[in-house]
Amino acid sequence: MKTATSDIVNAATQQPPRAAYVHVPFCRHRCGYCDFSLVAGRDDLIASYLAAIERELTRLESPGLELATLYLGGGTPSHLGPDGLRRLFDILHTRLRPLPGAEVTIEANPGDVTASLATAAVACGTTRVSLGGQSLDATTLVALDRDHTPDDVRRAVDILLTRGLAVSVDLMTAAPGQTLADVDRDLDALVALGTQHLSVYCLTWEKGTQFESLSRRGMLRPADESLERSMLELTIDRLEAAGFEHYEVSNFARPGGRCQHNETYWDCQPWEAFGPGAARFDGRERITNHRSTTTWMRRVLGGEDFTGDSETMTPLEAAQERVVLGLRRRDGLRREAFLNASGFALDDVAGASIRRWIARGLATDDGQQVRLTREGLLVSDGLWAEVLRPM
Ligand code: SF4
Repeated sequence: MKTATSDIVNAATQQPPRAAYVHVPFCRHRCGYCDFSLVAGRDDLIASYLAAIERELTRLESPGLELATLYLGGGTPSHLGPDGLRRLFDILHTRLRPLPGAEVTIEANPGDVTASLATAAVACGTTRVSLGGQSLDATTLVALDRDHTPDDVRRAVDILLTRGLAVSVDLMTAAPGQTLADVDRDLDALVALGTQHLSVYCLTWEKGTQFESLSRRGMLRPADESLERSMLELTIDRLEAAGFEHYEVSNFARPGGRCQHNETYWDCQPWEAFGPGAARFDGRERITNHRSTTTWMRRVLGGEDFTGDSETMTPLEAAQERVVLGLRRRDGLRREAFLNASGFALDDVAGASIRRWIARGLATDDGQQVRLTREGLLVSDGLWAEVLRPM
């Protein structure tokens, strides 16, 4: 097998990140399916959180980083309100400097979006809002334990688009009790919102969540696999027919509306990250901050090590991950680009798997570029284990 050259590895690790993620761990209430790193109903911790973010940013030497993308996720950054958002951006701008034309995204909950929040977001340099809409059906929103209404989603999108912000809305499928007809109506309503981007996720039943506990006790029932698949097929058909490009397994964009920040992750470029549970990547090593908001804050403010986890990939492991992230995208993998970026020939890393997928109609190969077919994308979660296994 061709081995990675040290030049390639060094280039990956020495390149300063042009993307940064900031985790804002506050929500009004914890939705029953959510296992993210956050605290609900603990606004008393916001001042300490801001102080800890300011302190963590000093990991970067002055003047900090010039960024092509900055993404504030959570939790719910919009829960900070207009003044809290201004305060957070003032702190971030001491070390994180979005370049002219940079994509700056904040996640928002529909119930938090007001004219003054949108004004503050724009004044802080935000260009894009990712809205946790999940559904435009009142019954589905209740089933998902969300604390907003369909009208909150419509009103929020209207405010944000009127301010000139790019908007992405999340849609959840396979919610408890949700039917194919419900998803059909949701897709119509979502397309009518006129946003540039949609992210579609199938509900997962994570250990430790309220939903998982209710399901173990027989009080909630996950959708069966064939219904999940039908919902995903319907989603792809309807959104493509409406002019959205299905550019990654879970993501759809109108022309020019792709999320540039996520493309950094999928390209395996380095990125910085701050806040509880936030993971940063330097091209080889992924370091994840302590997941508990209170432990992360205490350790950061006390000058202690606040690392939760760290993982250093071998060049081969990094190449294997590049295969997975690349094939999740509709553009797939170009052999030459893969070799230049990873130091490995694609066929040495995943050739046997790719040949099996082609034989099953899950992938195509024109000699230069390998891509999953529509069927391959539908079953992609089940394909990756064979690529990621030790060689
Ligand atoms: S609003 Fe989002 S981050 Fe907050 S609890 Fe609900 S799903 Fe989790």
